Amino acid sequence: MTETEAIAYDVVVLGAGPVGENVADRTRAAGLSTAVVESELVGGECSYWACMPSKALLRPVIAQADARRLPGLAEAVRGPLDTPAVLARRDGFASHWKDDGQVSWLEGAGVDLYRGQGRLAGPRTVTVTASDGTVTTLTARHAVVVATGTRAKLPELPGLDEVEPWTSREATSARQAPGSLIVVGGGVVGAEMATAWQGLGSRVTLLVRGERLLGRMEPFVGELVAKSLTEAGVDIRTNTSVASVARENGTVVAVTDDGERIEADEILFATGRAPQTDDIGLDTVDLEPGTWLEVDDTLRLPDSAWLYAVGDVNGRALLTHQGKYQARIAGAAVAARAAGVPLQDEPWGAHAATADHYAVPQVVFTDPEVAAVGLSLAEAEDAGHRVRAVDVDFGSVAGASLYGDDYTGRARMVVDLEEDILRGVTFVGPGAGELVHSGTMAVAGRIPLDRLWHVVPPFPTLGEVWLRLLEAYRDN
Ligand SMILES: Cc1cc2nc3c(=O)[nH]c(=O)nc-3n(C[C@H](O)[C@H](O)[C@H](O)COP(=O)(O)OP(=O)(O)OC[C@H]3O[C@@H](n4cnc5c(N)ncnc54)[C@H](O)[C@@H]3O)c2cc1C
Repeated sequence: MTETEAIAYDVVVLGAGPVGENVADRTRAAGLSTAVVESELVGGECSYWACMPSKALLRPVIAQADARRLPGLAEAVRGPLDTPAVLARRDGFASHWKDDGQVSWLEGAGVDLYRGQGRLAGPRTVTVTASDGTVTTLTARHAVVVATGTRAKLPELPGLDEVEPWTSREATSARQAPGSLIVVGGGVVGAEMATAWQGLGSRVTLLVRGERLLGRMEPFVGELVAKSLTEAGVDIRTNTSVASVARENGTVVAVTDDGERIEADEILFATGRAPQTDDIGLDTVDLEPGTWLEVDDTLRLPDSAWLYAVGDVNGRALLTHQGKYQARIAGAAVAARAAGVPLQDEPWGAHAATADHYAVPQVVFTDPEVAAVGLSLAEAEDAGHRVRAVDVDFGSVAGASLYGDDYTGRARMVVDLEEDILRGVTFVGPGAGELVHSGTMAVAGRIPLDRLWHVVPPFPTLGEVWLRLLEAYRDN
């Protein structure tokens, strides 16, 4: 191990995922010297093992399902997908797991990259241990920003090491479709990966601990997605937990809590995420290793003048777009504080990452797609709002009928009866993912319902579901 003299920067960012990259871009653009430390690939989980490859796997599956709803086209797409071609396209979207493009982007932005494991070493100090053991010390005049993301969380189960289970990494980067796959977990990753691999030729069994899929969303979401997955051939078992796993002659055997044996070629655990904070030197600044880093609305740790935590690692909303939003807020806050400018004078609102609590949009790329923003009815009630849910089926929308025969979909808006605004909106249906931003505008913009009435959706699009929702609200 060799030590070098400390190199001083204004800002040091730990982790070059989408969030770390964006923080660095913001602070650099504000004229602050900025270093980024990355232990794997610049671009992070999102670029190589999450958003990009997963959506590349899903897009042909969803497009095929859409095409099969159209007489005249359905016949032409009757056969199976060309899985090797889908995987090859996926490889391109994962940049063949090389980060040259993103490294050039960082260079262009004027950010210095240090490769290695970054760790805090006391206040405003970070060490970088490179793969050859060399240790570089960086100091930060204004801020250290932790953007180290999350990794898959595996349950403690007898036999787990022996089966070499898939996590989201293997599920998004696999070189071929397994003949059969057990997916454990009915959240977003479980539902999406069950959709993808069933569509790409695997026989999927989906084990869901609760009563339904996507249990945090409106109840009809999980019901519609489960119905469609079942029709596609997925064997869904609800109220089922895995008690143990083993590999017998190459085959994975999962034993459920009621003693049933389920066999498959591979098993994917999509059972949540853990913060990557166990080996980043938190103990050197009196913080508990392995914990989520709770922050204020400027993404700074309470009681710290210099330590920020942005993106997945703070546990607020584990989504790339939310992390990048936080990065914009944090970058502006760091820059304003460095310049001694009051935060409220910062024109783009450096002082409040409010959209994290209020209007988080999410699309689940299943068939049907799910688009949701803000609070579900249950969440709004739990938060103490006086609300009413308004539901409509897409059956009454001409754009939906044109989109595909036997279009099945549903929408709900959660109306705050005291403030006359929306607390949340959910759409489920083929192609419905693209509706999410209209919902985010309405919820984040706190548009009063009588103004929404004048926001005219074009005919004949799926967006006309807004009109049906507003009519249903007015007439009841
Ligand atoms: C299968 C799957 C699909 C997803 N799909 C979507 C989607 O479609 N849309 C969406 O919005 N979100 C999606 N997400 C969530 C999304 O991937 C994350 O929200 C996003 O990657 C978070 O970005 P981040 O920069 O905070 O962390 P990460 O992307 O995890 O990046 C953190 C970086 O920090 C590095 N690092 C960690 N520790 C250290 C250290 N000590 N020193 C140096 N470097 C370190 C890591 O190597 C990594 O590069 C998906 C997640 C999964 C698992």
